[in-house]
Amino acid sequence: MCKHILNAQVSIRAPCCKQWYDCSECHAESQTHRLARTTEMAFICKKCKKAFRKDMTAYEESDEYCPHCDNHYVIDAKTPQAAIGIEGEDARIDSRLLKDERVKKDPSRSLYSQDQSDRLG
Ligand SMILES: [Zn+2]
Ligand SMILES: [Zn+2]
Ligand SMILES: [Zn+2]
Repeated sequence: MCKHILNAQVSIRAPCCKQWYDCSECHAESQTHRLARTTEMAFICKKCKKAFRKDMTAYEESDEYCPHCDNHYVIDAKTPQAAIGIEGEDARIDSRLLKDERVKKDPSRSLYSQDQSDRLG
């Protein structure tokens, strides 16, 4: 069972290893090689269990349906929600930050602008 796409309607045959997977994630988990790309994808409809092929270079909207049972297999993937609930962690943060920060500021700006212009003319 694919745990990535919960509502997978088809299995896709990986052209590289000729194995059937529900999604590319499943392939990545069980194989070390990268999923090869192909122009002609082989599918098995999960509804009618029949195989069919699709030319991905000429993929149209009507190709989103199983040619055998008309099951709409290209649907929005339902992915499992990452239910990560961090609870029970009663961490008391008692951090007193006493910063004795004495910023020494020197206000003695000595900007001598000597503008002696001795005109000798
Ligand atoms: Zn493969
Ligand atoms: Zn998967
Ligand atoms: Zn079908």
